[in-house]
Amino acid sequence: MADTRLLVASRNAKKLAELRRVLADHDVAGIEIVGLDEIPPFPETPETGATFEENALLKARDGAVASGLSCVADDSGIAVDALNGMPGVLSARWSGSHGDDAANTDLLLGQLADVPDERRTARFVSVCALVVPGGTETVVRGEWPGVIVHAPRGEGGFGYDPVFLPADADRTAAELTPAEKDARSHRGRALRQLVPALRALAG
Ligand code: IMP
Repeated sequence: MADTRLLVASRNAKKLAELRRVLADHDVAGIEIVGLDEIPPFPETPETGATFEENALLKARDGAVASGLSCVADDSGIAVDALNGMPGVLSARWSGSHGDDAANTDLLLGQLADVPDERRTARFVSVCALVVPGGTETVVRGEWPGVIVHAPRGEGGFGYDPVFLPADADRTAAELTPAEKDARSHRGRALRQLVPALRALAG
């Protein structure tokens, strides 16, 4: 029987690879993962949702309708307690321009400059949605708690990793190896919760 094709609503090769690793680690066979670059382009709805859940579902529904395939989409960010949960869904564009990791991180450190260590708690959040055309919608959330340090440390990862010290590590997320980060991260935690639904999809 041919593998079931699953669209991952992303152009990020690392995200596709991470889902492939999760499926392999859980012995889920029979799923072929394809990214947005491998299907005909379609108009993508902007991420205007107020929550990670809304954005992930918007993206997964769009992908499923446009491709006719089951589709997984994720939305993620960092929620800082001293900022009442912001940057949250605005994490990627916190400094005003989308995806400027250094500017986003600098702004966050400036905002927290006078916040004492005990109130620098934060969490990375990843929400993943799986939409099966004409079928079920599954939404899962993974969280990775930690604190915001005072200065960036480490060369790995991306985004806010250099300023995030996970509660379950002794180094910032940017100082962890990719395997160490995968095993702990919000995205890994969310993707692992999707395994039962993906297993059902594989048949
Ligand atoms: P998304 O691609 O729209 O989900 O935006 C995610 C944004 O949240 C990124 O641009 C980063 O700023 C931040 N973010 C999400 N996950 C991580 C992570 O694992 N490490 C560091 N930053 C992250």
